[in-house]
Amino acid sequence: MSALPATSREWHLVARPHGWPAAEDFALREAPVSEPAAGRLLVRNLYFSVDPYMRGRMNDVKSYVPPFQLDRPMDGAAVGEVIASGVDGFAVGDHVLHGLGWREIAEVPAEQAVKVDGSLAPLSAYLGVLGMTGLTAYAGLFEVASFKEGDAVFVSGAAGAVGSQVGQLARIKGASRVIGSAGSDDKVKLLTEEYGFDAAFNYKKGPVAEQLAEAAPDGIDVYFDNVGGEHLEAALSSFNVHGRATICGMISLYNSTEPTPAPRNLALVIGKRLRLQGMLVNDHRHLQSQFVQEVAGWIGSGELKYSETLVEGIEHGYEAFVGLLRGENTGKMIVSLTG
Ligand code: NDP
Repeated sequence: MSALPATSREWHLVARPHGWPAAEDFALREAPVSEPAAGRLLVRNLYFSVDPYMRGRMNDVKSYVPPFQLDRPMDGAAVGEVIASGVDGFAVGDHVLHGLGWREIAEVPAEQAVKVDGSLAPLSAYLGVLGMTGLTAYAGLFEVASFKEGDAVFVSGAAGAVGSQVGQLARIKGASRVIGSAGSDDKVKLLTEEYGFDAAFNYKKGPVAEQLAEAAPDGIDVYFDNVGGEHLEAALSSFNVHGRATICGMISLYNSTEPTPAPRNLALVIGKRLRLQGMLVNDHRHLQSQFVQEVAGWIGSGELKYSETLVEGIEHGYEAFVGLLRGENTGKMIVSLTG
């Protein structure tokens, strides 16, 4: 076995952000590396994921996932190569998906590592289009929103990892119209010219309700909410009767320091008989193999496209995370440690 590196760099949260995260809330620190304990693997991370839900984990509040601890390494999804293993079934050189990102080298309990095959898809895809965000899109559209052929679908955050997949899945499965909103003209162009959306608009260029009404003259049947706030209010106004919303995320509110207003038109749910359903991806793991099989097929046939924004180098982990919140990504935001 080749010698292990003496140290590994890892990102720690050192202060809890108030509002937007700041560089001084984070520190990149060195930790010693040693042979893995019994039942564990040593993994050199090649890619790790930065995700909007991590902003919530920076607050010291009870939630569906525990907060990051101060002065401890942060975690999250990562893909890497096994560099030391004393565990049957895992060999040096295997590639694994696991939950100890935000660091160069991870000591991973074997039962928390899942082998992935880099010959079937690029390894980074297991963090996005074939990973957590992909399953979120798949489950959120088909299971939570009960999508059916002929539905008109509106998705916000449409050029992001989840949103870009939602819109394309809806198109592939026969939506009557797919509408997306995103935060730049380039993203809007990508949606209509590459991803096959019927209409898209830049939400920074005017009131969302007006732009949505124009893009969806016959109303919408499904709204996939990644953004909340003004977007949710606009969707309520554009809904047809018996519309269904998947409430997946509300990124426009994640850095708020004040209580955020409810949709002013919430009473529309009554007359329109709307269903607004929150979701957590982990409730839908039973769809995993069906999801991978179908989505891999559509990627292979060219029907489904995806983007990744790779930020190279562990030292840029904080910037990648804040860049995600600012909309600097197209598709999945990933930190690459392959350089
Ligand atoms: P994205 O790849 O979509 O990245 C986040 C995007 O949000 C940015 O690129 C930016 O794009 C957009 N954004 C940022 N601020 C605002 C704002 N104020 N208004 C509108 N858009 C904004 O991230 P993901 O695909 O990983 O996640 C999308 C959503 O899904 C998030 O809300 C996330 O929390 C949620 N999620 C929920 C899961 C669940 O189980 N419930 C699982 C996974 C994700 P732009 O340039 O368009 O502004």
